[in-house]
Amino acid sequence: MSAKVWLVGAGPGDPELLTLKAVRALHEAQVVLIDDLVNFAILEHCPTARVIAVGKRGGCRSTPQAFIHRLMLRYVRQGKCVVRLKGGDPCIFGRGGEEAEWLRAKGVEVELVNGITAGLAGATQCGISLTLRGVSRGVTLVTAHTQDDSSLNWQALAQSGTTLVVYMGVAKLSEIRDNLLAGGLAANTPVAMIENASLPHQRECRSTLADMQLDAVAFELKSPAILVIGEVAGGYNSAGADVLANSLKHCG
Ligand code: SAH
Repeated sequence: MSAKVWLVGAGPGDPELLTLKAVRALHEAQVVLIDDLVNFAILEHCPTARVIAVGKRGGCRSTPQAFIHRLMLRYVRQGKCVVRLKGGDPCIFGRGGEEAEWLRAKGVEVELVNGITAGLAGATQCGISLTLRGVSRGVTLVTAHTQDDSSLNWQALAQSGTTLVVYMGVAKLSEIRDNLLAGGLAANTPVAMIENASLPHQRECRSTLADMQLDAVAFELKSPAILVIGEVAGGYNSAGADVLANSLKHCG
């Protein structure tokens, strides 16, 4: 066991979706810095570690990133094995890349461990196949939230022909709808909105691009949630029969 920082993906919430490597890192950890989207139940894998909560939910009081950096550095320089535990995958909207680069620049050994990202888990939990032969040839993961207010190329997204998985979109549903409609995506494109994916209190709301904002309000959709936008999200309603039939045609 040597002093280093593991940047570990804790997966979307279901403790059984943790990787074996994440469990090994937790067993070795002496200090665990944990984000607030992580299911604290997985701390059973590190019963003797010191656990420090460093959550930083958008819009809420949060631990400054610079403080988290310094905390990791302090413990690793004390010779400790540190695990930085993040929801989903550390490198999907999780600042894993940033933290790894900062630590390596300080001469710290860093190991990244994948986690199952919320978008993939949410779709699977709702029976949605993000790619489907004859229906969707790809997936695009995007965040609706930016720190610098830079905008996405919505037209390119609307015309990409891929399934769109949107993170951090709950507060921006009107904007997402308007931008994708303006970009040429059909108003009746199916949408699945999945809250607390993979957890016992997971909820799912099916809608269309045109109606998703109003439906989300009626449903009282709350963060954390992901949106799956594309024909594959219609696979299990009446219109979706066509989606599956179309895909099956390609199965020889
Ligand atoms: N690194 C994480 C994403 C962090 S960004 C990952 O790979 O999953 C935070 C956003 O992720 C939330 O606003 C929400 O859009 C999404 N998210 C995280 N956990 C979720 C969950 N259990 N269910 C639905 N969405 C989730």
